[in-house]
Amino acid sequence: MSSHDTELSPAERARRRAIASLARLAGTSAALPFLASFAPPTVSAQTPAPIGAPATPGPPARPAPQPGTRVVMLGTHGGAGIERDRAETSSAVVVDGVPYLVDCGYGSLRQLVLSTIGYQQLDTIFFTHLHDDHTSDLPALLSHQWTGGAKKTPTEIYGPNGTARLVDAALGYLRVNAEIRTVDEGRTIDPATLFHGHDVAATAAPTRVLADDRVTVTAVESAHYPGRSTDRMPHRALSYRFDTKERSVVFTGDTAYSENIVGLAKGADLFVCEVMAQSVYDANVARAKEAEAAGNPVSIARHVAETHSTPADVGRMAAKAKVKTVVLYHLLPAARVPGSLDYAITNFTDGVRTAGFTGEVIVGQDLMVL
Ligand SMILES: [Zn+2]
Ligand SMILES: [Zn+2]
Repeated sequence: MSSHDTELSPAERARRRAIASLARLAGTSAALPFLASFAPPTVSAQTPAPIGAPATPGPPARPAPQPGTRVVMLGTHGGAGIERDRAETSSAVVVDGVPYLVDCGYGSLRQLVLSTIGYQQLDTIFFTHLHDDHTSDLPALLSHQWTGGAKKTPTEIYGPNGTARLVDAALGYLRVNAEIRTVDEGRTIDPATLFHGHDVAATAAPTRVLADDRVTVTAVESAHYPGRSTDRMPHRALSYRFDTKERSVVFTGDTAYSENIVGLAKGADLFVCEVMAQSVYDANVARAKEAEAAGNPVSIARHVAETHSTPADVGRMAAKAKVKTVVLYHLLPAARVPGSLDYAITNFTDGVRTAGFTGEVIVGQDLMVL
């Protein structure tokens, strides 16, 4: 570390290390062999295409992908907002070289490129819920998959109620671009044949969403929308579990403490869980009381306080589910000053341990590979 580096914030040092390592890897990808070694392009509608698979026959065959399951933290920013050091929420599970995306907030598309996963052959997306900090890059992702021209297999998008409608809306955005390029460039593929949205039921017990020869994905309803809201709208939020040959990984998405999630996460290897610092919870409880006194009982502050997890909530879920490792993401507070984190890492990790979780606790960073 140079003397200059010591003047940088932890976030900036992490960001520079990630970029430097990715730059070094551009030629050899030695530190990300599972991303650098691609499978041959033998795909079907039910089998997601290996990342990096050549679009047309001709280039020399790449070596088979290194087997294994890795999690790539693409975006770890908490809530809606754009900042330099963290993209909005997105993660990828890469199984034997094939990526599965979980959420697609703003910045995800670029993070997919920086991570070397890429976006052209991504075939499967799961949404935990449809807040825009988890979905904003979907229109960009789908339209660039179509415009890129190499996408021959469908992209299947799963999520709670409203997902099919959201995908239809993204197709609506893409339609004008497709009309122009179809006339002007002789394109032949109708975007509607490539992109399919699927609404998944929100259940208390784990429900199977997808199973292929690499992974089984199950989901439960999480606790991101309180009963006072779900009584008045059809929208729900989900948590997902990925089981592969080697590992089990759970993504909570946004949620308060949830017994459904405890059931989903039983014995999981990685428990990727959202978190807000206790100070954020306390400040939002105080603001919600002020808003209620001023005549607004349903405030943003009340939403934040009631529908996210304090470090103690995370620790209670992790301990009760007996997961092996906790990975924190969707970090609140988010950075408000470029290059700073606005919090000490221990504000998150200490509370998880105080609640009784004794395993490893990792604070997620963008482009972290686990
Ligand atoms: Zn969120
Ligand atoms: Zn949310």
